[in-house]
Amino acid sequence: DGVIWMDGEMVPWRDAKTHVLTHTLHYGLGCFEGVRAYNTANGPAIFRLKEHTDRLFRSAHILNMKMPFSKDEINEAQRAAVRENNLDEAYLRPMAFLGSEGMGLRADNLKVHVMVAAWSWPSYMSPEAKEMGIKVRTSSYTRHHVNITMCKAKANGNYINSMLALNEAISGGAEEALLLDNEGYVAEGSGENIFIMRDGVLHTPELTSCLEGITRATIMDFARELNIPIKERRITRDEVYIADEAFFTGTAAEVLPIRELDGRVIGAGKRGPVTEKLQAMYFDAVKGKLAE
Ligand code: PLP
Repeated sequence: DGVIWMDGEMVPWRDAKTHVLTHTLHYGLGCFEGVRAYNTANGPAIFRLKEHTDRLFRSAHILNMKMPFSKDEINEAQRAAVRENNLDEAYLRPMAFLGSEGMGLRADNLKVHVMVAAWSWPSYMSPEAKEMGIKVRTSSYTRHHVNITMCKAKANGNYINSMLALNEAISGGAEEALLLDNEGYVAEGSGENIFIMRDGVLHTPELTSCLEGITRATIMDFARELNIPIKERRITRDEVYIADEAFFTGTAAEVLPIRELDGRVIGAGKRGPVTEKLQAMYFDAVKGKLAE
């Protein structure tokens, strides 16, 4: 049921198909976004739509894919995907991928296809997790972003490691994975940025091995409003163990407290007061209750 925007038109969900020789399926060069619409007093609203579309275009630029649509068209496609599927809370997945016009790495006649799907996905984490926090395991997989130095693209290929790390964490009894960078510093979760609070200062890894998270930027704005000092710098794994509070941020995970890493309880072992405050501000913002 429902419709998916594909290459400029809405098509029924079951007809939104691609060929088995789709280049991106074979070699993984493509990029995407994860966006959310929330139900607000003024109806469904897509949170940080412009920022997500901008990042999609930056990702495509990094990957040398020429977007065949304008940003305005992709913004409108996302609004239409929510509207025409009658959704009020939705997860949106815009993606740019290479077509099946040619095979092999040298193919130079490939079309860039763009699609936007939207579906109902009310919550990624349970209300209990949002309050009590989750257990996290440091992964044996390191964070590679296409190329170690290219973390600004939200590229399909990055998610191989994310999935291996998440599966490893879950089979080890945790709920999420923490990936380290190639030098052993803390990078990010499988699909989240990480923050720690220590001695009244909010710390988050600098943007050398993690995605430029839109939720991360939002949370940093809130921290500035609250006059909480922020340090963007390399963080070691043991700093997370001894932090007063730790939490993940992401479009799917929102603001998610971490209560344990590798079996070490963090702080009081539940959502800390700063996490709680930032989380409440985030929920107000997505629901349109804070001034933009
Ligand atoms: N890091 C990775 C690897 C991600 O996939 C995501 C999710 O998009 C994030 C961080 C968080 O980014 P955002 O807050 O823009 O959703």
